[in-house]
Amino acid sequence: MPAKRAFPDVEAVIDELKHLHASRRDQGHEHKLGRRERRVLSPADRCAVLAKTSSRCHICGGEIEGTRWHADHVKAHITGAEHEVANYLPVHAICNNYRWDYSSDEFQWILKLGVWLRSEVERETRIGRAAGEKFTGYDAGRAARRERAGSSVELTESGRWGMPGNRHGGPKAFHG
Ligand SMILES: [Zn+2]
Repeated sequence: MPAKRAFPDVEAVIDELKHLHASRRDQGHEHKLGRRERRVLSPADRCAVLAKTSSRCHICGGEIEGTRWHADHVKAHITGAEHEVANYLPVHAICNNYRWDYSSDEFQWILKLGVWLRSEVERETRIGRAAGEKFTGYDAGRAARRERAGSSVELTESGRWGMPGNRHGGPKAFHG
C-alpha cells in the first residue's frame, strides 16, 4: 500500500510497516544479501557513473567529493540485474547505508516519518524532544562503536559492519 495513502489510525500504520517488512523478508532481501558475487567497478567505470549525475548523490542531491562514495545498483543485486555502468548511480556512503534494501514503499514511509519527526524536533514539541533525546544517545553510541572499529573495518553509518565501499559487508545491526 503506497505511503501516500492516508491511514485511519496508528494501528493501521503499524500493520502496514510490519507487512512491508515481512514482504521484504519473504523476497529474500535480508537473508540473501552478501551471498552474490559483486563485481568491482573499474576506476573508469566509476568515473562514468559519477559523470551521470555531474557528481551529485542520486539520493540526497548533494555534491560528491573525494573517493569514498558508493556506486549504487539501481536495482537490487538479488534481482539479478546486470552489472553494467548503466545500472549504477553515484551515492554518498551515508545515504547508501541508510537507503539499505528497503522497498520503495518502505522508503517512502521512512521519508514521511523522518520529515515529520524532523519538524517535531525543531519545534521542540514534547514528542520531538523525547525522540531527539533518544536519538542523540543512539547516535552517540553508534559513533563510539565506529571510533572503536578503527579504519581497517568500518562500522558503517547504519551500524552494520562492512569494508569501506561494501554496501552489504556483514551482519546488520539496526536495520529491520
Ligand atoms: Zn547523499
